[in-house]
Amino acid sequence: MSGASIVGVGGHDVAIVGVGGHDVAIVGVGGHDVAIVGVGGLGAPAAAALAASGANALTLIDDDLVEVSNLPRQPLFDVTDVGTPKVEAAARRLRALRPGMRVATIRARVDSGNAARILAGHGVIIDGTDGLPSKSMLNDAALTLGIPLVHAGAVGLDGQLFTILPGRSACLRCLFPELPGEDDMPTCQQSGILGPVVGAIGFAAAAEARRILSGEAPELANRLAILDGVRVRWRTVAVRPNPRCPACDAARTASPPGVRSLA
Ligand SMILES: [Zn+2]
Repeated sequence: MSGASIVGVGGHDVAIVGVGGHDVAIVGVGGHDVAIVGVGGLGAPAAAALAASGANALTLIDDDLVEVSNLPRQPLFDVTDVGTPKVEAAARRLRALRPGMRVATIRARVDSGNAARILAGHGVIIDGTDGLPSKSMLNDAALTLGIPLVHAGAVGLDGQLFTILPGRSACLRCLFPELPGEDDMPTCQQSGILGPVVGAIGFAAAAEARRILSGEAPELANRLAILDGVRVRWRTVAVRPNPRCPACDAARTASPPGVRSLA
């Protein structure tokens, strides 16, 4: 089967986009407010926190299968899920936690070619991906669509969080005008990753998403939050929009279809 298959969802508050590249299985989409891209160490705790805090609807997007190595830091999964698509296992667990919550799943990898189709219409995107290419692509897609993006990342013993309001706050390319290449950055495999750090970042991302959905000002627009996982200390760094940022310029000139504006 090619293209997309839709497996159920419904009326959500959150859409989670994890992704992967080919056949797209959409399990329940429709009217979500939050898209979670990547249902792993960051996205899984974000989804759990949103479910626990009363979200009505989630969209989960990921193309990976659950692996044994995921289990220590991805609390929605257990050994019986190994080999199962993450979006399916996560949706099953979330529906058990919150039977009334609608969960849509999209088994795909978000890329520049499908991002607009997958993400349009969501009120907030949570970036639970790893790797700078994915994160910069999501940054650009969110800006073009005019959808707020909660950027989350973790590697080694540190984590970071940053909220992007298209056209109104700094974006990832304002923060890092010369984004390093993927080969220039340590991977989680090289640097390791601390389960409590990704969990804390995922939960904090959910809190930011809920602020945005409820019309409150996000805490981390124009502020980069950094978690030192060794000392368990948070600090924030002010970030200014770059008036010459090409991605932000595209956001200002874009006319996104069907995207909600925030209060
Ligand atoms: Zn920018």
